[in-house]
Amino acid sequence: MARVPPTPLPAEVPLPDVSLTPQELVRYSRHIGLSEVGEDGQRRLKRASVLIVGAGGLGSPAALYLAAAGVGRIGIVDFDTVDLSNLQRQLLHDTDHVGARKTNSASARLGAINPLVRVETIDEELSAANALDVIAAYDMVIDGTDNFKTRYLTNDACVLLGKPNIYGSVLRFEGQASVFATPEGPCYRCLFPEPPPPGLVPSCAEAGVLGVLPGLVGTIQATEAIKIILGIGDTLAGRLLLVDALAMSFRTIRLRRDPDCPACGTREIQSLIDYDEPCAPRATALGQRAASVQEITPRDLAERVRRGDLIDLIDVREPYEWRIARIDGARLIPLGQLPSAMSTLDSTRDIVVYCRSGKRSADATIQLRAAGFRAVNLAGGILRWSDEIDPSIPKY
Ligand SMILES: [Zn+2]
Repeated sequence: MARVPPTPLPAEVPLPDVSLTPQELVRYSRHIGLSEVGEDGQRRLKRASVLIVGAGGLGSPAALYLAAAGVGRIGIVDFDTVDLSNLQRQLLHDTDHVGARKTNSASARLGAINPLVRVETIDEELSAANALDVIAAYDMVIDGTDNFKTRYLTNDACVLLGKPNIYGSVLRFEGQASVFATPEGPCYRCLFPEPPPPGLVPSCAEAGVLGVLPGLVGTIQATEAIKIILGIGDTLAGRLLLVDALAMSFRTIRLRRDPDCPACGTREIQSLIDYDEPCAPRATALGQRAASVQEITPRDLAERVRRGDLIDLIDVREPYEWRIARIDGARLIPLGQLPSAMSTLDSTRDIVVYCRSGKRSADATIQLRAAGFRAVNLAGGILRWSDEIDPSIPKY
């Protein structure tokens, strides 16, 4: 695909020929009273469009504030349903919407806040096949994803299309934000040229996240979007904001564009890549090692249990997860305690290890096999077990 010239930003195009109704003048009066915004700025907001990738912890505050601010067209990409465990931080959704499509829940909430903005929902996974078409229809993107596959896809599509990519990420008590893929600034790949090996970086589901933290970072992303639309202030382009909620410190580090960056530097990336987890292409040695862990499917394990095979089933999750859900007959050995617990395991028996999704247990399987145990990993963890074998086991 040939390089597309950067899309003019809302602040760079002639003032749109939309006017504000008396009702809008009242609704946005606290904006209009700011000389840096004024009626002209509010008209730019009305004409602007922002795509939010992910209606989760980051996408929630971003969408809420952009809708309240009067951004005329807001796109929401998400193919997930609202889960009870989302509500601790994903304020787009509420208790009544547990089990509903996130796009429906988001649409209802944003419509209630501001019926004057248009909310467009895309209820599918962003992929190499659709990302360019989806993103091309908007002025800029807010990246609220929680996985590397979509983050690299979003970055590469934004670089190819010349659209600003307003990035945020959170884990435990720390967050980051930046603005990538502007004409002069770096992109996400300038920082991290390749995705990490699958399983190396824990997800929020595995490591936890303080609920207000995505609220902080997502609100910062919305702030950057509004500044870009209005053409005011200095954005985070070329800077990475690091938020530490425990120390309550905010600091920025300079980012430089990498001339060797495969996306925005050498431009060797001319089409999108679907990094399929858990076997990403161009994976490192560690990634290949994790991907080659011996596995058993839930169906095969259920069949072996039914036959009466002697299997030691080990759960390497944390005790609080064990209290939410467990597989009958399992023994809890949290991953961190595995080395010291190995002396209590029987090396003559088959061991099946599981965790929530299969990542931590892959690590445990590698450790056990290195110590001489006949261990295999339960593919997909207790989540897949719930899907395929025992739906009475709650998913979290
Ligand atoms: Zn780059």
